[in-house]
Amino acid sequence: MLHVDVRRRLGAFQLDVSFSVDAHAILAVHGPSGSGKTTLINLLAGLDRPDSGRIVVDGRVLFDSKSGVDVKPEKRRVGYVFQDCRLFPHMTVASNLRYGRRRGERDIDFEQVVSLLDLQALLRRRPRFLSGGEKQRVAIGRALLSSPRILLMDEPLASIDPGRKSEILPFVRLLRDAFALPIVYVSHAADEIAQVAERAIRIENGRIAAADPVRSSADQAYTETGMRLIAVIEAHDSVSGLSVLGSPLGQLYVPRRFEPPGTVLQVTLGASAVEPVAEVVSGAISVLPARMITGTRT
Ligand code: ADP
Ligand code: MG
Repeated sequence: MLHVDVRRRLGAFQLDVSFSVDAHAILAVHGPSGSGKTTLINLLAGLDRPDSGRIVVDGRVLFDSKSGVDVKPEKRRVGYVFQDCRLFPHMTVASNLRYGRRRGERDIDFEQVVSLLDLQALLRRRPRFLSGGEKQRVAIGRALLSSPRILLMDEPLASIDPGRKSEILPFVRLLRDAFALPIVYVSHAADEIAQVAERAIRIENGRIAAADPVRSSADQAYTETGMRLIAVIEAHDSVSGLSVLGSPLGQLYVPRRFEPPGTVLQVTLGASAVEPVAEVVSGAISVLPARMITGTRT
């Protein structure tokens, strides 16, 4: 569980957010530039201090203004992947990776990280000989080797060519699956969010604009017997009366939505709505009618 309830004033800007999420998933934090996403991530990492509030990760209180708890950044066990990588230019990839390594209690193995992020061929290179995507994979590896309890990623793809984003996004999903590591993934790009996150909150002007809706018990029954994902409206088709959503499962066609393209939606594929139309033969494609029950704008 990640519990956050923080307030922070920076000049004329005021951040005031409060949310609790099951942290064993990827939480996307999105919103326009200047809305307070980096400010929030810095508070979680301990690089900046809330004026008041409380931060709890997996039952461990990292900050609590009432009881005076303020765990130092290096003791928080928070991995941070910055937008601009921040690798040490004079060190090889291997040394950059080892730099973050935690002594003593260590539960993430060097070889495992190298293989998972496909870094073997890069270990002896220096950062200036890496592509943007490769640098970001090294930065992710370095953060992982500190054996974090939570991984914060602040717009990790912002400086990567759009065409090369697919070199990173599958790795982000792999991380979550391989290490059961909760990830807070900041992005202003809806397509990225749809590809990696299970839950999303939107921040606008320092406030949460829309969070994952609290589900009613009826919704709960659906999601327990179905599947929940984040999708983005790609287009509306006036001829068929359908809207096309981009999702981690590929494109979903749903009854016409009225939000504009680019809107992020929470979609539930209820078990009762899934009707295989072809026998399961390897390589065969089944067409599944999708049904939306929580089309909430986030
Ligand atoms: P985002 O990451 O969503 O783009 P930020 O969290 O970086 O937004 O910034 C939120 C707002 O806080 C912006 O208006 C920014 O100018 C302001 N801000 C950030 N850091 C400071 C600071 N140290 N002093 C004053 N204002 C700041
Ligand atoms: Mg930012």
